[in-house]
Amino acid sequence: MTALPIRDELRGMSPYGAPQLSVAVRLNTNENSYPLPDEVVTGVEKALSAVLRDLNRYPDRDAVALRADLASYLGHELTTANVWAANGSNEVQQQLLQVFGGPGRVALGFTPAYSMHPLLAKATGTGWIDGQRGDEFELTVPSVVAQLEAHRPDVVFLCSPNNPTGTALPTEVIEAALDTAPGMVVVDEAYVEFRRPGTPSALGLLPGHPRLVVTRTMSKAFAFAGARVGYLAADPGVVDAVQLVRLPYHLSALTQAAARAALAHADVLLATVEAIKAQRDRIVATLRGYGLTVADSDANFVLFGRFRDQKAVWQALLVRDVLVRDVGLPGWLRVTAGTEAETSAFLKAMGELL
Ligand SMILES: *Cc1c(COP(=O)(O)O)cnc(C)c1O
Repeated sequence: MTALPIRDELRGMSPYGAPQLSVAVRLNTNENSYPLPDEVVTGVEKALSAVLRDLNRYPDRDAVALRADLASYLGHELTTANVWAANGSNEVQQQLLQVFGGPGRVALGFTPAYSMHPLLAKATGTGWIDGQRGDEFELTVPSVVAQLEAHRPDVVFLCSPNNPTGTALPTEVIEAALDTAPGMVVVDEAYVEFRRPGTPSALGLLPGHPRLVVTRTMSKAFAFAGARVGYLAADPGVVDAVQLVRLPYHLSALTQAAARAALAHADVLLATVEAIKAQRDRIVATLRGYGLTVADSDANFVLFGRFRDQKAVWQALLVRDVLVRDVGLPGWLRVTAGTEAETSAFLKAMGELL
């Protein structure tokens, strides 16, 4: 059998993805554990039936109505011209790298952070630099400035709240990156709706920062992961720039209609956020009570350790029908805050193990 002529840099790689195991308590991919409320299901059904007859036509290529709805959800005086949407924030970030990265350019992220960022860099032919964090995964202004001055990346990824550590970045760190980075600064705010009180969003920094891009998603707080809707907020120039690489009609009429119906029920959908935050805080407090080291979390998940062998703990939880995530950080595991019952099952299993 002859090998296919795959690009050299992709040879030997494995596709990204967490194990999709059939387990009673699934707390490994930071999804929202709550199914959509009936009233939202009805709203989405109506919206979908309204577009079915017109599926012979291509969708609105510019997704203008959806972008207007997203802008009004975000507030901060943002308009349609500031917002762009795609099939998940992963696609948004891929488009950003296609425009602002690519062969001969480099992107930098501060590891450990979202493992898709380096993979998207690789897939778009963008070089990747692993930036460093402190011993407690912290990022400080002097460290960010020194690393950006040393590497001068074309694209910087800041993940806030950070996945897998859970902690949001201080605003000064984002401002320092904006002041120092020669290129684009992408702040991935996938979990921002779960942040602790007093933690600002980077949206407030958009005025006067034309190279700042804030990416968001409906996959987590909105419980809409299956629909695949992500978006960005930025200067209108950034939105114009991604038009150069987006596929025509990339976002189906069904997706646009479903997302708009979900946004019309944002208050109902986001009602689960407070319940999830309460379970998140309960996980942090209980695991600390067990004597474990637990990172502060502004997200719907918690990073906990330190274990001599995190793989063994992962396996022992699986035997108890609880699936968490081994993010490849030696000594640490990540658990999603689920419903009260799921959280109880996880905490009970951890109690038995320790
Ligand atoms: C889950 C997650 C996303 C969401 O990706 P989608 O493609 O919008 O589902 C983005 N960034 C981070 C850091 C995440 O953990």
